[in-house]
Amino acid sequence: MTEAVDPADEVVRVRVPAKINLSLRVGPVEDGYHRLATVFQAVSLYDDVTARWQREGETTVIIRGREAHLVGTDHTNLAWRAADLLRQRCGGDWGVALTIDKNIPVAGGMAGGSADAAGTLLACAVLWDLDLDPGELRELGAELGADVPFGLAGGTAIGTGRGDVLAPALTRGTSHWVLAMVGRGLSTPEVFRRFDERQPEPPEPEVSPELMAALSSRRPADLAAVLDNDLTEAACDLRPELAELLELAPRVGALRAVLSGSGPTVAFLVADEAAAVDVHLRLKAELGSEVECRRVHGPVPGARLLQTP
Ligand code: ATP
Repeated sequence: MTEAVDPADEVVRVRVPAKINLSLRVGPVEDGYHRLATVFQAVSLYDDVTARWQREGETTVIIRGREAHLVGTDHTNLAWRAADLLRQRCGGDWGVALTIDKNIPVAGGMAGGSADAAGTLLACAVLWDLDLDPGELRELGAELGADVPFGLAGGTAIGTGRGDVLAPALTRGTSHWVLAMVGRGLSTPEVFRRFDERQPEPPEPEVSPELMAALSSRRPADLAAVLDNDLTEAACDLRPELAELLELAPRVGALRAVLSGSGPTVAFLVADEAAAVDVHLRLKAELGSEVECRRVHGPVPGARLLQTP
């Protein structure tokens, strides 16, 4: 005889990665959004989303971690909105208690909020036993934010449109990075506003063939040569110390540094895992305790289940 499981004891845990942008090309505005051509890479810095049953129709969010105080736990939280959207679209009155263990910096240009939304969609779909395929989850994700589909997909991918139209990119090997996660996030809309002031008529964005070739070359130096982000100057205008941080790459032994998304996180590409250890130490010595530095690698998979009921 099997024992009946109390729904309140059912737990689903999902791990979801941060992203960096290997290239970010920003084009003209269409329907209120810039057209983008970007290459995302999911890296080994994760938020964990835990979902438990709770009273019908109710969503609660608890955030844990160093920056928890910076994020709302109500309808302003993308994870809350993800649960709400899924409930509405699938026509149920299920409830969920979400706990998010946050390691991805808040407003860091690493799509942490989108990662939490992606993790919540997967966690709730499993907890509520919904019959949705990955494509349907990604479509729902795109309604929540342009970076959410990539949080579900992971790997390395080309993003066009608002960054939400994804095509997998062929990559070989693993890239090693050291992240400098500058405290005090940058507002993405503010960085785009500054970009518009600097460049009111940007050209049509495209991912360069050189970048595509570098991704499949296995030589980190090839990739280093083509890293690129159109938002760099705008972010440096708003946060001048970022320019100095980007210039640190040769001094600390990295191949190159690139701003992730709208910043302020800067990703230092290094030759291999051993170089990552050295660069990490040198960066910490240069930057002191104000800036959190982390070794990561990519590509890694998108949102994945760690625990199911
Ligand atoms: P973007 O995806 O706009 O590039 P980002 O990666 O720089 O953003 P996020 O950490 O995703 O930064 O947060 C952007 C803003 O979204 C934050 O200022 C925060 O108030 C809000 N937000 C909503 N939900 C979340 C969440 N679950 N985690 C982090 N921020 C969230």
